[in-house]
Amino acid sequence: MKIEENKVPKTDKVIHFIRQIINQDIADNKNEGRVITRFPPEPNGFLHIGHAKSICLNFGLAQEYGGRCHLRFDDTNPVKEEQKYIDGIIEDVRWLGFDWGEHLYYASDYFEKMYKWAEILIQKGLAFVDSANADQIREWRGTLTQPGKESPDRNRPFGENLDLFRRMRAGEFEDGAYVLRAKIDMAHPNMNMRDPVMYRILKAAHPRTGEDWCIYPMYDWAHGLEDSIEGITHSICTLEFEDHRPLYDWFLDQLGIYHPQQIEFARLNLNYTVMSKRKLLQLVQNRIVDGWDDPRMPTISGLRRRGYTPEAIRDFAERIGVAKRESMVDIGLLEHCLREDLNKRAPRVMGVLKPLKITITNYPEDQVEWLEAVNNPEDESAGVRKVPFSREIYIEQDDFMEIPPKGYHRLSLGSEVRLRYAYYITCNQVVKDKNTGEICELLCTFDPESRGGYTADGRKVKGTIHWVSVPHAVDAEIRLYSSLLIVADPDAEKEEREFIDYIDPDSLQILNHCKLEPSLKDAPAGYFCQFERKGYFCVDRDSVRCGYPVFNRTVELRDSWAKMQPSNNAVL
Ligand code: ATP
Ligand code: MG
Repeated sequence: MKIEENKVPKTDKVIHFIRQIINQDIADNKNEGRVITRFPPEPNGFLHIGHAKSICLNFGLAQEYGGRCHLRFDDTNPVKEEQKYIDGIIEDVRWLGFDWGEHLYYASDYFEKMYKWAEILIQKGLAFVDSANADQIREWRGTLTQPGKESPDRNRPFGENLDLFRRMRAGEFEDGAYVLRAKIDMAHPNMNMRDPVMYRILKAAHPRTGEDWCIYPMYDWAHGLEDSIEGITHSICTLEFEDHRPLYDWFLDQLGIYHPQQIEFARLNLNYTVMSKRKLLQLVQNRIVDGWDDPRMPTISGLRRRGYTPEAIRDFAERIGVAKRESMVDIGLLEHCLREDLNKRAPRVMGVLKPLKITITNYPEDQVEWLEAVNNPEDESAGVRKVPFSREIYIEQDDFMEIPPKGYHRLSLGSEVRLRYAYYITCNQVVKDKNTGEICELLCTFDPESRGGYTADGRKVKGTIHWVSVPHAVDAEIRLYSSLLIVADPDAEKEEREFIDYIDPDSLQILNHCKLEPSLKDAPAGYFCQFERKGYFCVDRDSVRCGYPVFNRTVELRDSWAKMQPSNNAVL
């Protein structure tokens, strides 16, 4: 498809604000010019396309600047975390094309160190054990306009704090009986600085540390320590942590340990896309989708199963850029990047989604010709293949109209059309079902002089359609997908409804009697191709279970996005 080149964001690397910060740090010889980043997922779900932005950014910057990027599991909440998510995340980051070498870390490996640091803060009089419950802590926190209230336990003597904290660790108390809080300032204008909780009691087994711990660190306490331990230079996170940065800095400063720089950027928001692990989990648990890797899911595993390529996702991540301001990106841009990549690489084949049988009455009964077809017009090295042609073929139902409207260039009664790579045919008769009146077959004749799709007399036809030979056809199931959401942005809707209310129940359409050219008979799971005129497709892993090919439609051919955009701008 022709794309208007000036309408899509450029792929050349833009010196965005994080690159500017790093360039300046290198110029100042900060950290001796090292660039060490990390991607810190919490293993409480599978990764989504938003995470891909963060992965490409963190690993990409490390590559660019000759540094390194750590993969670190932020596994501080055992109640929600599972080994299957850890495994899935590792697979997804690898698939995206990134490598952390030996730098795979777990926050839980640092629990002992963190604990010791907490004792140091207690000894410095900067942390205390509070018996207030969650409701009281919330109530005493104050509001944006009103200062909070100090807990009665705030001035507990430090010896008592230390004793209680050790007993918390030893498992002497029930969940919720005590928390450890930093002692900062209950009147601080930044609510995060109002004596934030550092540890809570949680008698839950951890996927890695098992029963070793019954107190677990809170994110704000843990994260900076993890970054510090690993010598991270640029701790890049999303904008919602901007207000937490003073606390990140406070902990590191009070402990006097190595202090990485936290930098915030705007998260990726995509229209027509659910993008929160909590909501994605809800879709899985309510069986609205067929698991985390359902091809409609915006998870990396879902996109992979749908037929997205890592190249397309990385290209997308670069094009959307990095900014400080929240915005909504058009899903069309992601699809555009995908088409650009697949157009270069996907072999072309013929597949009929909704078959209509044709008998070519003047073609010899038992004759089969193997005709040459081009594998990829965009890539000469892809070569050619042979496709069988015979007296009976399938075409798409909508490539025929008995009484065509003006401008219809495909097949109609009495008209001539070109069969791709084959012959000109003319339709002479329509066979209908006696009971339903539905068209069930067409009788056509072919012009033997038009082999390969061209005639000696130079006679022209307006339409070219694809086809598949009946005796050679491979029966397949094809799954067509549309977006899960029926509105671009559920949060922007006037009525306050749950996002679940905006889910399209018909976002999956299954076609059962599709007919494919024989070259696709044993295509393995993950194989991708373009069905001419129909879009890009890939083989689903269900093929193995079903015993016949199952294809997912990855994306349609039409690219409306590049044409719709008013300017060279990815952001709506
Ligand atoms: P979600 O909000 O979707 O549930 P999360 O932020 O809780 O995701 P984490 O596992 O904590 O998920 O995220 C790991 C990293 O990915 C964090 O650094 C986070 O900032 C980043 N990240 C998460 N969502 C996005 C997004 N939409 N765009 C860019 N980065 C993101
Ligand atoms: Mg998070």
